[in-house]
This record gives sequence, structure tokens and C-alpha cells, in this order.
Amino acid sequence: MLQHMDRARVPASISVIGAGIAGTWQALLFAKAGCKVSLYERSDASMTQATSHWAGGMLAPFCESEAAEPLITRLGLRSLDLWRDALPQTPFNGSLVVAHARDRADFERFARLASGHKRIGAAEIAELEPDLGGRFNDGLFFAQEGHVDPRQVLPALHAVLRSSGVPIEFKSAAAPRDIDGLVIDCRGIAARDDCPELRGVKGEIILIETPEIALSRPVRLIHPRWSLYVVPRAGNRFLIGATSIECEDEGVSLRSALELMSAAYAVHPAFGEARIVDFGAGLRPAFPDNLPRIVVDDSRITVNGLYRHGFLLAPALAEVTVAHVMGGRTDNEVVRCS
Ligand SMILES: Cc1cc2nc3c(=O)[nH]c(=O)nc-3n(C[C@H](O)[C@H](O)[C@H](O)COP(=O)(O)OP(=O)(O)OC[C@H]3O[C@@H](n4cnc5c(N)ncnc54)[C@H](O)[C@@H]3O)c2cc1C
Repeated sequence: MLQHMDRARVPASISVIGAGIAGTWQALLFAKAGCKVSLYERSDASMTQATSHWAGGMLAPFCESEAAEPLITRLGLRSLDLWRDALPQTPFNGSLVVAHARDRADFERFARLASGHKRIGAAEIAELEPDLGGRFNDGLFFAQEGHVDPRQVLPALHAVLRSSGVPIEFKSAAAPRDIDGLVIDCRGIAARDDCPELRGVKGEIILIETPEIALSRPVRLIHPRWSLYVVPRAGNRFLIGATSIECEDEGVSLRSALELMSAAYAVHPAFGEARIVDFGAGLRPAFPDNLPRIVVDDSRITVNGLYRHGFLLAPALAEVTVAHVMGGRTDNEVVRCS
């Protein structure tokens, strides 16, 4: 059992299955801790089979505290430091929450439930995001939050891994039971064969491009049904997300597309002229309580259930796994030993 494993008992090699955001961070921190690590991924390097490919990439522990458990904020805050260490160029210029007058009650509710923000008015909104000047009278500024572009950051982290001597075997579907030594199973929703409780929560996004408007940080628009946001990407692109639907079909419905595009238009009418570059959906892997789990079972550890917080939580979860395996320290809020 790995429950009380000391350094002398650490396996000579560690195999991580799944090069999404969870597996990539596990591989990174085990390699940093001096372990010999291999990473297996069924997709090619474009990672289009990963939920991570579709994510907004917001690192927003405070915004998320509006609806998530304190555990998410705790791990999320630790992750911000780990992101800074691994990729110092990660932008930490905050995030902005705005609402139209008709959604005032929902805005006030969000302000009450979320922490780590400052209330700002029209002038400060215009200072932060000049193109939003005059469009919103009230906002919440979460100064400490950051964001990454998953389609850039995964290849960047994979490059860090390769330069640290970690081989990444793309197009290699692996079965945890077929591999000797310590296996870290980070297969996301595909791990349902072993975790029957796992479910997929569909999130749809649209990627658009326009030179008509510039944003420096994620902007969330208070919406009565969903947490809708616009996240700036390089090259005048913007990710509009995301729905949250209890279904495992991976298509984008007409209704969702209309709602996402209307949200962008409501943030700024200039988005009406934008070109649609891509749209799609990912299945967020979630356990019934929507909290992440690190399940330790002999020579196998499953890291899953990152739900809507994979980019926010993956670094801290990797740190917890490494501390458990290398130092015998157990974070009882996340680690389950069978
Ligand atoms: C629309 C949307 C927006 C989101 N926005 C955010 C956000 O802003 N911030 C945030 O923190 N989180 C966000 N999330 C959540 C985040 O994307 C997920 O929590 C995260 O991607 C889950 O990561 P994972 O590594 O567990 O799974 P995945 O990314 O799915 O990775 C699992 C990998 O395992 C591979 N795999 C499966 N089976 C095998 C096998 N047998 N052998 C080898 N490889 C295998 C898969 O191909 C895949 O690459 C969002 C999710 C969605 C859908």
C-alpha cells in the first residue's frame, strides 16, 4: 500500500496515463521530485480528445467561491503559486465580473457569495478594459486571478516535461492494469470503466475572432442561467463559454450557440461582427459531490473529478499526490485510501 510509503519504497518508475491538465501536472511534479516518469496519451499532440482542450483556462479561485466548496478555494490559491513557478509568464491581471441593470439582483448575490473582490464603478471598469467604457455601471474586480490558454499551455507544459527528460507517448492508449510500477490514472471521463460514479457535465464554447475589440482579462457576465464569460486569446480571439448541462452528448446545440453568442453581444455589440473560428464541447469529469478525488489503491492512484476546475486545481492536486507518495502526508479532504 502507498498509504505510508517512505522515500525508500517509492517505485523506481511512475507511469501517468492521460496528458490532460491533471496528468500533465502530476508528471511535472513527480519529475521535479526526482522520480523517473513516463506519460501516456491516447490522443495526438493536438490533445483534441481531452476535456482540457475545450476549457476557458481561468485560474479563478475567488470567482468560483460563489458556487464552489471552500476546498476549491484552498487548493486553487495554492495552485496560483505553482502556476507562477512553472510558467512565470502566466498572466495574473485579474478577472472582471459585470452585469446589466436587469440582472442587478443576481449581481448582488454573486458579490455576497464570492470573496476576494473589490466593487468598482464605470470609471474603473473603463480604466481596466477601455473597450467596455460606458457599457456597465457596476463591476467586481478580482485582482489576484489569472488565466491561461489551454491550447497553448498544454504544449508549453509538455515541452517543459520533455526537457526534464519525461517521455510523452502520444497515440498510446494505455490500460492502468497492464502497466507495472506505480500508475497515476488521469484519464478524465474515460476512467468511468473503473469509477462508475464519474459523470460528464457538458460544457459548450465558441471561439471567435475580431480586431474590433480588445480585452486584457476574462470578463464574466452575470446571467440568470449560466456562468457566461469571454476570455481573451492571442490573435484577436475570444473564447465564449460556457454552458453546464447534465448530459454526455458532445455536440453544440443551436440553443446554446444562440445563448453564448448573445452573451458576447451583450458584453459588447462589436462581437456581432466577429468571425466564428471554432465551437465544440467538453465533458467535465465530475463525482456526485463535484469535488476532486485522489484515490489510492495499492500501486494505482486515480486523480479525477476535477469538474469545472481542472486548470485551477491540477497543480495543487499534483502536489498533494507527491506529498502522499514521497512523504506519507495525507490531505484528508482529497485523498481516499482503499
Ligand atoms: C467548456 C469548459 C470550460 C472550462 N473552463 C475551465 C476554466 O476556465 N478553468 C478551469 O480550471 N477548468 C475549466 N474547465 C474544467 C477543465 O477543463 C477540466 O476539469 C479538466 O480539463 C479535466 O482535466 P483532466 O486532465 O482530468 O481530463 P482531460 O483533459 O479529459 O484529460 C484526460 C486525458 O486522458 C486521455 N486518455 C483517456 N483514456 C486514455 C488511455 N486509455 N490512455 C491514454 N490516455 C487516455 C484523454 O485523451 C485525455 O487527453 C472547463 C471545462 C469545460 C468543458
